[in-house]
Amino acid sequence: MILPVYLYNHPILRQRAEAIKETDDELTSFVSNMFETMYNANGIGLAANQVGSRRAVIVVDIGQLEENGTTQPLCLLNPQIIVSSDQLVEYEEGCLSVPGIREIVFRPDKVTVEYDDLALSHHRIEAEGMLARVLQHEIDHLNGIYFFDRISPMRRTLLKNRLKRIERGSVSCDYPCIAAGSTPIIPAR
Ligand code: ZN
Repeated sequence: MILPVYLYNHPILRQRAEAIKETDDELTSFVSNMFETMYNANGIGLAANQVGSRRAVIVVDIGQLEENGTTQPLCLLNPQIIVSSDQLVEYEEGCLSVPGIREIVFRPDKVTVEYDDLALSHHRIEAEGMLARVLQHEIDHLNGIYFFDRISPMRRTLLKNRLKRIERGSVSCDYPCIAAGSTPIIPAR
């Protein structure tokens, strides 16, 4: 099932996610809905609060950006960054909750992330490049942080009017979404 994506400045996008201590069939089907929602919107990552849930879960699939598509889709419960490289790299990021806005963001090139899978087994991955980028962006969401919180205050000021338009729901979006304080925008297909 495709879920509507909550847009800036819906309050849930500023809330911290709650740790998942048990899993069940409902969570498994929620995760599969998250994947479906992400693919439908041509996204490469999605955090649960972007679809209205405060559970600490993200999904990531960067396969479409790779020539050989070797990185498998990932579902991470309770993800935590435990090590970040000192080396920062820049990349232009966008976000399904902030349609139409892209900004260069500096982030560590490599991160080590610990997480649980859907059976609550604990894992650790070392990620670099695009995977490290997407994991950091999505884990930020679980902490109530947007990518534009990590750009300079001057650049952020320049986004103000466009952000206001997203907040009001005067934005075009080709996937189902919910603007802050309004009814869902369901695109005609
Ligand atoms: Zn995002």
